[in-house]
Amino acid sequence: MKKKVFYAILEVFYRVGILRFAFFVQNALRASLMVLMFHRVSDGKNVGLPSISIRKENYIKLVNLLQQFFNIVSHDELLQMQTQGENFPARATMITFDDAYEEAYQNGAPELIGRSIPATVFAVTDAIDKQAVFWWDVVYAFLQYANLATPIESKFYEILPENLKVEFNAILNTPFMERGVRINTFIERLKKISGGAINEIKEYLLLSYNTSLSKEKGPIARSMNLESLLELKKNGYTVGSHTVTHQFLNEIPESDIRMELRRSKQKLEKAIGTSIDTFAYPAGIYNSDVVRMVKESGYLTAFTTQMGCNSKNVNLLEIKRINIWDDFVCDNRGKFSASLTLWRLMTATGKRFHARA
Ligand SMILES: [Zn+2]
Repeated sequence: MKKKVFYAILEVFYRVGILRFAFFVQNALRASLMVLMFHRVSDGKNVGLPSISIRKENYIKLVNLLQQFFNIVSHDELLQMQTQGENFPARATMITFDDAYEEAYQNGAPELIGRSIPATVFAVTDAIDKQAVFWWDVVYAFLQYANLATPIESKFYEILPENLKVEFNAILNTPFMERGVRINTFIERLKKISGGAINEIKEYLLLSYNTSLSKEKGPIARSMNLESLLELKKNGYTVGSHTVTHQFLNEIPESDIRMELRRSKQKLEKAIGTSIDTFAYPAGIYNSDVVRMVKESGYLTAFTTQMGCNSKNVNLLEIKRINIWDDFVCDNRGKFSASLTLWRLMTATGKRFHARA
């Protein structure tokens, strides 16, 4: 109820111009760079983790809002401003897409290319090769729609750690509508087990999902292929690396971190024909050693999932972003709200809407 009143007041402020005026004043004083982080742009056909997904109709409304209020800059312009010690223009904003989903190409790109709005896409090179699905989307899709009777290879239960096995079955025993938060927590816990085991878990769940559920519930969202990535590059996108296999970099040996950073860079450079200067940390997970290796691998900028805006003195290897998904742009009835979106962008600090991929 309190929220409803607050949203109604914001809406009135937005309509009479008070909110917009406050926004302009705040940004004139702040002169900071806001970097938006998108993942999926969904048209409802594909299944996957909702906290990294925005519906296409909301995305279009947000792009309209961005075009109206913000000054959208490219990665090249960011580098140029930093090299020359220039201030950011008022309401400077960058648009980024992590994981290079096919949906970001199909549903996200036409809206930006048609209006000459620059964007950056971070690709996982192994996923691009195979047009792969990602493990977090597979786990989400399975746990959202399966029940205890859904057939699954018995070997799956040998890989899954004991404590997670109990929770896995408990979720399958929970009514569908009540599973959301538990699935998210389960995915966070899965992040702590090693990369090899996660991939095996993904393969078993994917097999089961494709056999029993995909016909009715739809396919799982997947990575774009190289052809789509090249098309984006041709249309003005900046391409960056998001590693070879999307491993969490502070949990693997140094030699593997260097391989993930260098091999993805070389592969993209060879395929695209330009130097790859920018990087995004998988799931925003990194430490000071990882930052040093990113720099030593020849990247000029790197993007985190830490929420907030960036001042002129930003450390270019730890750029903060704001995760965009449906809940960020919608009110509690699930409807797009320009006033609320503007308010959230004005007050974007802290970790309230943290990302998961
Ligand atoms: Zn990612």
